Amino acid sequence: MTIRTRLAVQFVVLASLTLGVAFAVVYLRAADFRQDEFLSRLHDRGVNAAKLLIQVEQVDDKLLRIMEGKSPVRLPEEEITIFDEANVELLHLGGNAGLMAIEPAMLDSVRANGRVKRMVEEREMLAFEFEDEARRYVVVASGRDIYGRRKLRNQARVMVATFLTGLLLMFLVGRVYARRALSPLQRLVVDLQGIGASDLGKRIKMGAGSDEIAQLAASFNDLLERLQTAFHVQKNFIGNASHEMRTPLTAISGQLEVLLLKERTGEEYRAVVRSVVEDMQALNRLSDRLLLMAQAETASAAMTFAPVRMDEVVWAARSEAMRTDPANRVDVIIDEVEEADDITVKGNEALLRSVVVNLLENACKYSSDNRALVSLNGSGTMVRLVVEDHGVGIAPEDHERIFENFYRARNTGGAKGHGIGLSLVKRVVDLHDGGIEVSSSLGSGTTFTVHLRKAETA
Ligand code: ADP
Repeated sequence: MTIRTRLAVQFVVLASLTLGVAFAVVYLRAADFRQDEFLSRLHDRGVNAAKLLIQVEQVDDKLLRIMEGKSPVRLPEEEITIFDEANVELLHLGGNAGLMAIEPAMLDSVRANGRVKRMVEEREMLAFEFEDEARRYVVVASGRDIYGRRKLRNQARVMVATFLTGLLLMFLVGRVYARRALSPLQRLVVDLQGIGASDLGKRIKMGAGSDEIAQLAASFNDLLERLQTAFHVQKNFIGNASHEMRTPLTAISGQLEVLLLKERTGEEYRAVVRSVVEDMQALNRLSDRLLLMAQAETASAAMTFAPVRMDEVVWAARSEAMRTDPANRVDVIIDEVEEADDITVKGNEALLRSVVVNLLENACKYSSDNRALVSLNGSGTMVRLVVEDHGVGIAPEDHERIFENFYRARNTGGAKGHGIGLSLVKRVVDLHDGGIEVSSSLGSGTTFTVHLRKAETA
């Protein structure tokens, strides 16, 4: 069922319930009123007959029968019976058959309660006591409220017809109303259907309102914005990555082709092979980083994170950085900690090691003394890792940009690199819900500080 129909149905159900209850109350009140009115008329008729018979000496039962027989105020199928104190019938007006059974028990009940009313097959009866000079008579008046009932039935018919017409009308109005209410949503659906992967630049029209639909449209536009950026970044990433791969590959094939042009000496061969090996190693490192990048990109906090001791990570990273370039020098300061928990974080060991390796390699690479100082300490709920160098430094305007994919600042000099180390670092730190800061200026060295949450609080 569409929301439109559902809304219309709900609208009808609610409205019909309200209308139905209102009509039912009106009908019941009218029915009560009809009965009260008819009983009061029966009472008046009974009192009138009793007064004439008992209090007016000149009137006896015969005369009364003649008078009442012709009375224009007689009720339909009216019967009036009067009993004396000994329950002897003094008078009976109306049909001879006695349409309403009158048992002595009922008369006793009237004397006990003052009044009894009854209804048998639409015939109503009222029995009551009538007192005159300390004598207690019982008057039983009955009749059929033909006009009252007809009026009531008519009223009920009008009400049912009004109710049914009302239902139909409410359903139609409900549908129109629902369509109007949902039309902005419908427009949104049409707009969204028009947006494919190739035209993520399109945006949904938001209109001037600030209602829920406008909020939804704004959220969709935000989502599109993020999707578009992600698509853009991904496209660039692939382009940049293949470019970075091609440069060393071209260099390798170029060197080998030149080598093959003529006969070479053993020393020449060795020199070219050494250079090719260097390029291959650089390629290897690049592909390692791309792989880690892909891993960090697809990883989420839900992936299996385990407790990782950061001191072990630092030592392993130091060895790796020194293996990459034996000229690298890395000093390590690890604060004395009471418990290993103070420097344990929850995370992925390989990714965390890549953070430290990249920071150390950069620190050595961009320093004339190839020296890096790494310190580690745990305070409060965080583990803090600081990598310092006394190298070329980074200009303030580059502080943000160095974390972008493939971005290399102008300070690199001849240092080799691809500009993905720090973006990998940032991605991994983010993935671990941590933070990274850089403090540096050109010529005065650089300090990177990484904050990671301790395992017990993560
Ligand atoms: P790269 O492969 O170029 O080193 P990174 O992503 O690791 O790529 O670093 C991005 C840029 O940040 C570098 O090109 C360099 O300009 C700058 N940079 C990173 N670390 C340092 C550092 N310790 N000292 C000076 N500049 C640095």
